[in-house]
Amino acid sequence: MIELIRVTKRYGNIIANDEVCLKVNKGELMTLLGPSGCGKTTTLRCITGHCSLDQGEIFIEGKDVTILPPNRRKVGMVFQNFALFPHMTVFENIHFPLKIRGIGKKKAGERIYETLNLVQLSGYENHYPRQLSGGQQQRVGLARALVYQPKILLLDEPLSNLDAKFREEMRFEIKELQKRLGITAIYVTHDQEEALALSDKIAIMKDGRIHQVGTPEEIFERPKTFFVATFIGLSNIIEGTVKNTHPLCLDIGSNLILTISYKKEIKIGEKVQVLIRPNDVEFMIDEKEGKDNIFDGTVARTTYLGNKMDYLIDLASRLEIRLQTDLTFRHNIGDRVKVYLPISKCKILS
Ligand code: ATP
Repeated sequence: MIELIRVTKRYGNIIANDEVCLKVNKGELMTLLGPSGCGKTTTLRCITGHCSLDQGEIFIEGKDVTILPPNRRKVGMVFQNFALFPHMTVFENIHFPLKIRGIGKKKAGERIYETLNLVQLSGYENHYPRQLSGGQQQRVGLARALVYQPKILLLDEPLSNLDAKFREEMRFEIKELQKRLGITAIYVTHDQEEALALSDKIAIMKDGRIHQVGTPEEIFERPKTFFVATFIGLSNIIEGTVKNTHPLCLDIGSNLILTISYKKEIKIGEKVQVLIRPNDVEFMIDEKEGKDNIFDGTVARTTYLGNKMDYLIDLASRLEIRLQTDLTFRHNIGDRVKVYLPISKCKILS
């Protein structure tokens, strides 16, 4: 439905988009996730046509739209700051995109009431934006993008001006609406929880480049790079040197050996980084004979998180492991413990 091929956009010395390649299938919700300034909004602006490319091509429904003006791309856009006209009523705000497309009064009226109903704002048509809550204003923003029935909807951090509880509710509303209308959507956020909850696929961006594209599970469970592993979720990154290849054993310093399950080619002496998530690390209560990856440590920090505990364990000099577990066993700072890093949960990063 949407395809970007090596899209590059420069602002002077800054490369806002650096050979971005992205494919979004029909009916899919793709999230662009990355730190501030990584080029997410620029990608959307290239798709809407508000930004000319230095290189690359953009296709929508198989048609090359690279040089097509914005009003001929049939792409709806929802903004972070709602971008409503303060002197216009809700009705007039939603009417605006139909007016500039020359849609007649009768048809426009029908569409506006239909869309108000869709975003659950029936009865608010004569209100001004200042008379609405943040969530209601964002619904008007959504209605204004949906009213001309675009096949593609781009949403640029649409929930970031709302409070936490309301964000969560709106997240589900947007997803439900997008699926019900069969719209293809690209959603920009720097909130990883929002990205995991909403997306069919996530594209992780950094410095104008896409690092990895995958389902939320793939991105969380099989991050390919150090950046993706540390940007999404909590992580322990352990550095090691290959000591043996069958099975793969890493020297992680202080005479400690970490065993990993790894099927790709790797050489003795190679330096690698291993990811293990804090909730995959376990306290070993009854040590089983001969089990790999059990290390002695000392509890250095404890944090109560309501439904779980977060521990920092000193394993050796300069080697700390973060561990999250339920409240069954409680440890205190200074306790000597044994921690277990299950082989299947240790992943080598490329
Ligand atoms: P945020 O999450 O903070 O909105 P972003 O990932 O959307 O950031 P962009 O807005 O796409 O990032 O910006 C990418 C880079 O391009 C940044 O370094 C930004 O300063 C620069 N940039 C964006 N628009 C312009 C412009 N019109 N003129 C000059 N530089 C720009």
